Order: sequence, then structure tokens, then C-alpha cells
Amino acid sequence: MDEETIQRVATPAVCEVQLENGQACGVIAVGRCVFCGHAFCDTHRARFLQRVYTDTCAPCFPKTEEGKQRCEVDNCGVTAVDHCGICKRAICATHRIFERLPTTVFQPEIYVPRCRPCFDNSSEEAKRARQRAEAVEAREYLLSGAARKALLSSKEEPVAIYQIESQLKKGLFSSGKWVTVVTSVQRGWFLGNFDGTSWALLDVDSQPTPLVPVQPYRDGYALVERQKNRDFSAWVQTAYTIRVLTNSSS
Ligand SMILES: [Zn+2]
Ligand SMILES: [Zn+2]
Ligand SMILES: [Zn+2]
Ligand SMILES: [Zn+2]
Repeated sequence: MDEETIQRVATPAVCEVQLENGQACGVIAVGRCVFCGHAFCDTHRARFLQRVYTDTCAPCFPKTEEGKQRCEVDNCGVTAVDHCGICKRAICATHRIFERLPTTVFQPEIYVPRCRPCFDNSSEEAKRARQRAEAVEAREYLLSGAARKALLSSKEEPVAIYQIESQLKKGLFSSGKWVTVVTSVQRGWFLGNFDGTSWALLDVDSQPTPLVPVQPYRDGYALVERQKNRDFSAWVQTAYTIRVLTNSSS
């Protein structure tokens, strides 16, 4: 390490985002914004859907590709928060409806974003047929390796996914204590939390590509026990998230 590097490590940058009282935030910074050059903390980094920006501060979010998107329903023009799963148009919070997929086929409940016109203009029968097709397609996209390929060629960085185990460690004078032991480390992409379970897609060249439940651990995530039937609910939402992250419309 040279002198300058040591200096930087010793005095970490602090968040320069201005608070409402006009003062800088001052919390330890996690990145620097490519637009304004300010250091920003975890709270003041830009976020969109499941996406966490590593190079943009929250105030500069409107300058990003996602931030520039405006709701396309009825010339609305309000900042978009999502995309319609059917017509793919950008939609604001007001023009977004979450359509519930049938729980009789896929449980527990799954919600997918729709624009108001697309939701209103379809019959119950059409909705059901579409939902089934969507779930089947999402499953194929995830497990066939297509989703992994899209992530690999995107700028999304995989994170460490730990496999951990509790082991009883015997002490010389004590009866022992339980310690957490890392048994393996893989890489994967964190996709968000749906229905109370967090999901990651492992970067593994095998089929099916493992879609796994995880929980935060160290600098990444750790595998958690798979709950029966939870995978079904995650297909549509994780597939949707990956498409948003990788900007692929197909
Ligand atoms: Zn900025
Ligand atoms: Zn801050
Ligand atoms: Zn639509
Ligand atoms: Zn709107």
C-alpha cells in the first residue's frame, strides 16, 4: 500500500449528500456518484425496484436511465416506478396494479405489475390463461440458464453466497459451544424479497440453474433451508426482476 492509499483507508470518505437542514449527511460512505462526484452512504445511494446502484447517489437518480423513465399511461408523465408485465410500458405508482396469480395453481400468492389499461381490458378467463403462461415461461427462463446468461452479460455484480453449518465446538474446560462454520462459498445474484423469502440465483453452469432462498450473511448471503412449494411463488417475480436488472425485454 502506498502512502496515499493508507491515508484513504485511515480516513474513510463520508456521505456528502445534503440533508434538509442544509448540512452534509456525514455517515461513512459506500460509493461515489458518477454524476455529481459526491460520496454517498448506504441510505443515500440510488435504488430502483430491487436494484442498488453502486455509482449513483439518491439525489442524482433522475439522471439515470431508470430515473428518466416517465409513466406512459394516458400521457401521465409522472416518474415511473415499474413496468407493465404485459405491454412493457413504464408505469407510475398510481397507474400500477398488482395482479394476483391464482393460488390454486401456484401457491402462495404471487403479484405481478400491470398498467391500469392492460388490467382493466382483460377478461377473467384471459387473465388466468395469461398468468399460467407467464409462470411457465418464467420457470423456463430461470431454470434453463437464460436468466443466468443475461445476468452474466449485464453489469450486475454477483455476490458471495455462503453455505453455513452450525457445529458444536468442544472447549478444553467447557461443554462446548455452537459455532457457525462456512462449508463452501459460491457466487450468485441477489434478486430481492418476495412473500417473506429472499432469493438468489446461483452462478453455476448446471441445469436447472439453482434458484435458492437466502438470508444476509457477512458481505453477501447464506443459503437457508428450502421451504416446500416456495419456489413456485418466486418464479414470476424473480424472472421479472432479472429482466428489469438486465434491461432485456424478451
Ligand atoms: Zn450524485
Ligand atoms: Zn448519507
Ligand atoms: Zn400494460
Ligand atoms: Zn401514471
